[in-house]
Amino acid sequence: MNGLNVGGRIFADDPGSLVVVVESMTAIPAQIGADLYLVRHEDFDKRAVLDCPCGCKRRIDLNLVRTQK
Ligand SMILES: [Zn+2]
Repeated sequence: MNGLNVGGRIFADDPGSLVVVVESMTAIPAQIGADLYLVRHEDFDKRAVLDCPCGCKRRIDLNLVRTQK
C-alpha cells in the first residue's frame, strides 16, 4: 500500500484524488479539491498542501521539513 493516509483517507489510492508534485507554492491553485499537492525542491519534500478532507474547506498546509530544536 503506497497510499498517503491523511485523516483516514488514502489519497493516492482514491481514484477521485491525485497527488500532484510541484516546485513551489505558487504552482498550487486556489481550488485544490480532492487533490494533494506536494511541494518538492531538489528531491526534498517541503510541504504538503490539501483541502481538509472533512469538507470544512479549510486548507491544510503541512511543513515536511524537519527542523532541529
Ligand atoms: Zn475540515
